[in-house]
Amino acid sequence: MDKKTCHCCKGYADGSYVLPPLPYEADALEPLLDVRTVNTHHDRHHAAYVAGANAAAETLRKVAGNVYDEAVASSAMRKLAFNLGGHILHCLYWDSISPEKQDGPTGVLADAIQADFGSYDGFMRVFRGVAMGVQGSGWAVLGRERLSKRLTVLGIERHQDILLPGFKPLLACDVWEHAYYLRYLNNRAGYVDAFLRQANWAAALKKLERHSHEQAR
Ligand code: MN
Repeated sequence: MDKKTCHCCKGYADGSYVLPPLPYEADALEPLLDVRTVNTHHDRHHAAYVAGANAAAETLRKVAGNVYDEAVASSAMRKLAFNLGGHILHCLYWDSISPEKQDGPTGVLADAIQADFGSYDGFMRVFRGVAMGVQGSGWAVLGRERLSKRLTVLGIERHQDILLPGFKPLLACDVWEHAYYLRYLNNRAGYVDAFLRQANWAAALKKLERHSHEQAR
């Protein structure tokens, strides 16, 4: 399968992190999200993470090239983890929402959800619980855990805390307040439920198939 088929692989080109355009019109995500939320989120918040990731990467190159003192490396690395984590997760987020209502998980993804959560309802209980438990700003991310190859849900805090090495993300819900506050105010649960109703399960299935294929090689 072509590596570039998924939207979230388009965040790097010609030696820099880049902001991919939205994969749909900004007004296409109703009723989940309004156009003002989507535009502000993509054009300002996501764009700022791209700029921050490039700046941190450049600082690290200057440490390597002896332009900056090596003591700068640790703070630049932290900035890279935060901003690049934000960039990667936002690319995944735009690809996790569908302008059209979908019927829910299908194919091997439906099978995996059944096997690893007992049912789609079981998955929703875990996803909602993790999303509501994120302290402050963060993400609920469905993905495949490397050792067991089972699906699990991570509640990533900020963009970089609570991660598992080798975890392969399939579906990401941004629960930073900037993602939902204009429409939902403090009702994160209402936003997460609406997100799940408009989740892009077809894109998540493609990612699972690609990861399975890569792991099999
Ligand atoms: Mn965000």
